[in-house]
Amino acid sequence: MIDENESIYLDYAAATPMSPQVIDAMAPYLSDCFHNPSAPYAAGRKARRALEDARARLAHAIGGKPAQVTLTAGATEANNLAFAATSGHVVASAIEHESTLACAKARNATLVDVSSEGLIDAADVAAAIRPDTQLVSIALANGEIGTIQPLRDIAAVVRAERERRLAAGDHTPLWLHTDATQAAGVLAVNVASLGVDAMTLSAAKLYGPKQVGLLWTAEGLPLQPLVLGGGQENGVRSGTENVAGAVGFACALEAAQAARKEEAARLGALRDKLQSMLASAFGDVVVSGPRKRQLRLPQLLHVSFPGIEAQRLVILLEAQGMYVGTGSACAASKMRTSHVLEAIGLPPATANGSLRITLGAPTTEEQIERAGACIIDAVRTEKARLGMDTEVQHG
Ligand code: PMP
Repeated sequence: MIDENESIYLDYAAATPMSPQVIDAMAPYLSDCFHNPSAPYAAGRKARRALEDARARLAHAIGGKPAQVTLTAGATEANNLAFAATSGHVVASAIEHESTLACAKARNATLVDVSSEGLIDAADVAAAIRPDTQLVSIALANGEIGTIQPLRDIAAVVRAERERRLAAGDHTPLWLHTDATQAAGVLAVNVASLGVDAMTLSAAKLYGPKQVGLLWTAEGLPLQPLVLGGGQENGVRSGTENVAGAVGFACALEAAQAARKEEAARLGALRDKLQSMLASAFGDVVVSGPRKRQLRLPQLLHVSFPGIEAQRLVILLEAQGMYVGTGSACAASKMRTSHVLEAIGLPPATANGSLRITLGAPTTEEQIERAGACIIDAVRTEKARLGMDTEVQHG
């Protein structure tokens, strides 16, 4: 159905192509200005200035201070750093990204449940916080079903507990960390208005380079190094700094934040169009995530076709030049049911037939129309093969 040269990529939550402006911004630091920022001569100082300028731009984009930004090799490392900053009990949700869940499970942790729409109730977070809780970690938006969490409400819960401890003369720290990796292209990620104490971002989801991320931390949150060595990044993260990566990240984050409102509206309209195409073709299609549009990432559509193997759909779609995901790439590659779909109570026969379709900057209306037709075709083919009812629902 699709010309080989016109493949349609709809898995932007897994990876984004680097934008030409990011590549241009990085290029000098991959060639002429390759020097080590710690070198004592002028070229080294120039690299240091570029690094610190990038850090300042990143900090500005999130409403923080440059000294509060630790550059990392991606969001996984930033999440690990946030957890390593505290000891004691942690509270996270059952639908966190693997990098957060793995850290939580290695610790004394309480995982709060979510609703069938993937929403966390701030009251459940309040109930999960214990006297020895030191960290609450909740992603701003879920990368698989797109649920945007009530982070400000959760921040209020954390603040109230901090105040209670203070009033009781209890100096046990309590920090709120958020992984905003999947949200930063379409939502504001101002740390003050979110009310968080630590925030993770990744350049790789913002048309920037992979293996480049950051952890922003509020003053007073003491980070513990995971990687020991030359003492770069304020002793928190040793290793020669990735100047080109930092410059590319700053460029990518600024561009993403500048375009986020328009992109959210544009992608939301395209997502809705695709959703209604699939819903009118199949009466049994299940859309996951919040019903309320404003609570779901606009670029994301999670759809399930009960009784159908999503892996087969992916193969059929790939043969047509179309690329979609079946869930977060990590779970999909291990061929197991996603913990997110389990947590929202999706029955296995529905969960197994799930596609995670994520739109991005290059996505056009014409692509969405072709993608919709392609998915409908693939699902009908599978239904016919399985002898399932293929009756088309109109209206
Ligand atoms: N957190 C979230 C919410 C993500 O979506 C991802 C990437 N899928 C990560 C963390 C890991 O990011 P990175 O690959 O930059 O380590």
